[in-house]
Amino acid sequence: MRSILSVILFLVFAVTSSAQQTSSHSRSEGHFDGHSWWSHVKFLADDSLEGRETGSEGLRKAQAYAVEQLQKDGLEPAGVNGFYQPVHFNQYEVDEAKSSLALVTNGQTKTLSFADDAFINTRSTHASANLSAPLVFVGYGLQIPEKNLDELAGVDLKGKIAVYLVGSPSDIPTALASHYQTASERWKALHAAGAIGTITIFNPASMDIPWSRISVNRNHPSMDLADAEFYETPGLQLGVAFNPASAEQLFAGSGHTFAEIATLGKDRKPLPHFALAGSLKANAVILTKSLESANIVAKLTGSNPALKNEFVVLSAHIDHIGIGAPINGDRIYNGAMDNGSGSALVMDIAASLKAHPEKLERSILFLLVTAEEKGLLGSRYFAAHPTVAPKSIIADVNVDMFLPIVPLKILKIGGLEESGLGDRAAAVAQSMGLKPIADPEPLRNTFIRSDQYNFIKKGVPSVKCDVSFEPGTPEQKIFKDWLTNRYHAPSDDVNQPVDLQAAAGYEEFTRRLLLETANTPERPRWKPDSFFRRYAAD
Ligand SMILES: [Zn+2]
Repeated sequence: MRSILSVILFLVFAVTSSAQQTSSHSRSEGHFDGHSWWSHVKFLADDSLEGRETGSEGLRKAQAYAVEQLQKDGLEPAGVNGFYQPVHFNQYEVDEAKSSLALVTNGQTKTLSFADDAFINTRSTHASANLSAPLVFVGYGLQIPEKNLDELAGVDLKGKIAVYLVGSPSDIPTALASHYQTASERWKALHAAGAIGTITIFNPASMDIPWSRISVNRNHPSMDLADAEFYETPGLQLGVAFNPASAEQLFAGSGHTFAEIATLGKDRKPLPHFALAGSLKANAVILTKSLESANIVAKLTGSNPALKNEFVVLSAHIDHIGIGAPINGDRIYNGAMDNGSGSALVMDIAASLKAHPEKLERSILFLLVTAEEKGLLGSRYFAAHPTVAPKSIIADVNVDMFLPIVPLKILKIGGLEESGLGDRAAAVAQSMGLKPIADPEPLRNTFIRSDQYNFIKKGVPSVKCDVSFEPGTPEQKIFKDWLTNRYHAPSDDVNQPVDLQAAAGYEEFTRRLLLETANTPERPRWKPDSFFRRYAAD
């Protein structure tokens, strides 16, 4: 990761160079007013669409609306069946009435409460399992060779369940920490060490959603891509999510306390590794079924005969989490900001670029993916089976829950320090008088938590930008409260305060970033010292 000073020096330089580039278009006037954006959000987040669950009628309605808009605006279809690219899924659901979890210590069995202590996570438990296995605490459960971190060294995990705290030590750069905390990477190391299952203890210092809200929706079905090529966690028999407020019982008799672990974890300090006194007895009954959904792909063809076969992707997920446990009497998780906001932006920008065609050298691909909420699945499928030549995708600009809930002054750029696309995003932001910043909350791990990550893993430079705040300001509290109260809750609906001007400014930023990326002869490249460069073929 580059030093703060070199980032600042770069930005000073970037302002000057991009002011020259953008002087030809009008810099003060944007192409958006926030109102068309909001009307799309209102459609997508309406109660009648029932939260746009993957595979549901509500999501199909949302997709039909998006296709209608794209068609009306004159975009070309670029899916498999017209605008659609079908995707097949398996769905997993726990039958809790027939399942159980218990902690066995010194011959004493204590049944765990699914609501209050721990539940079977179907993201990682894809088949019924009946097992009993000793527990080992492995810190953050990470093996990061680049930083000589091996939390599994000298630990006997054969046939055991690895217990870990979500997070990473502070000396691990954000990108690296994000990458190794993906389910597949973490499991790769644990599996190689012989583990058969995991207990994930949420880190109280980095939980976006309180346990009470996580727990009420624990039985919401999870999904995975049906094709075997996508199976990421071979040998993982059981995944359990643990309430940090109940985690002390796991540590009884080990010579350590969870309070001690949580304190270290809060400051991202290194964690000890040791065998726990108890073992876990689990009976998981999993119900499965298959279902189908689709991505939506539209195209605006560039004018340069050679470059028009290259694509800049603008992506956003259109699915949300559907109908769930009622909160304040409301069962519909509308997903207005997550990610009606990003889907609406894609429709708005497609319409604007078609209606005001500036010189467009490369082509732009507008991608509305499904099943992001199920683990970035629609984008994973698209990245593996793109509807254009794989090597022709030069960049992904992903938009997910960009949160125009305060005036737009500060723009967080996920991937800022990783590639030339990050530099360009910073320069475009600067040219609009915005302050670009890197992620001020690396613990939240957001760079791998949305669809851009699947493009990154195919070597494609990507960014995800969000309206943001300066640490320590009142705006920070507005964002914190939003996550605690509205994120993945029924109140992320159209009856919440939004800043239409901030949304319009963000759309203008995105439009300019797409145009500059499409029209700059050089493809964006990963920085020589970027961790993610390893995925690029060149
Ligand atoms: Zn979400």
